[in-house]
Amino acid sequence: MKNIAVIGAGTMGNGIAHTFAQSDFTVHLVDINEDSLEKGVATISKNLDRQLSKERITEAKKKETLQRIIPSTDMQNAVSEADLVIEAASENLQIKTEIFKKLDEYCPANAILATNTSSISITQLAAQTKRPEQIIGMHFMNPVPIMKLVEVIRGYTTSEPVTNTIMALSEQLGKTPVEVNDYPGFVANRILMPMINEAIETLYNGVAGVMEIDTVMRLGMAHPMGPLQLADFIGLDVCLAIMEVLYEGFKNPKYAPCPLLVNMVRAGKMGIKSKEGFYDYSENRKAEVPAAQFA
Ligand code: NAD
Repeated sequence: MKNIAVIGAGTMGNGIAHTFAQSDFTVHLVDINEDSLEKGVATISKNLDRQLSKERITEAKKKETLQRIIPSTDMQNAVSEADLVIEAASENLQIKTEIFKKLDEYCPANAILATNTSSISITQLAAQTKRPEQIIGMHFMNPVPIMKLVEVIRGYTTSEPVTNTIMALSEQLGKTPVEVNDYPGFVANRILMPMINEAIETLYNGVAGVMEIDTVMRLGMAHPMGPLQLADFIGLDVCLAIMEVLYEGFKNPKYAPCPLLVNMVRAGKMGIKSKEGFYDYSENRKAEVPAAQFA
């Protein structure tokens, strides 16, 4: 496997491209949006600078890594010789369905098509293609160059050799892959998201404030960051989309998204990416003052 394509240059896509390029793969990085593509490449460069300043990589390694990344807005051309495509576009079934249909048409017959989806059914995406045994979930964690886990999700139709190839490839990237089956939220988000949603519900019910809830979970449970801050990192729109998949998938009210989460997404408060979520990330913020209010 040499030739990799990553679809989507946002938070996850640029991290995935960075990780593959640093492990000596050629990576075509594709986005429909020219600005997002430019931002994605700038983020990779900035993150490589950080690794350089910590003496984790050399200047030559930084240069080589950047040279291996080929940005493009032309998906057809970028995937025409791909051995593996990792789709990391927005968490939306319609968008991903369209992308998988196109990838099936444009990619070589033996290419494996993976998705970094947080919650959408791998089996459902596989059914959009004529190669359902070659579709798999490759769920990286944020920030991708740092986080060790890859949740490898085997769809109902994914073949054993394809699963084994992706498990081995993840190890080649220096990651620890864990194989799981394709049910709503897989393992990571089936456990994580209800906890985040419950933290939001606790805020919504007025049990405690943003800082208090996060402090309890950081200091009491030894979590590296509180669930509300983590939600801001993930993106509140992504959190809501995952809760909706769990709610729909299990038909169980325990997965109903908290009304405060719904309202914040409707109001455009997406967390770090919109500079405001449970915390304020704007330039003129008052340090440590949570932005979210419940009423
Ligand atoms: P994001 O919003 O930061 O980036 C998505 C990118 O996809 C955008 O740049 C957008 O322009 C691009 N895009 C949209 N439609 C496209 C298309 N048709 N073709 C090409 N590009 C397209 O989102 P993200 O946080 O990077 O999430 C990407 C995927 O990774 C989602 O499926 C998400 O659930 C998953 N994921 C996210 C996290 C996280 O912490 N953010 C963690 C694990 C998995």
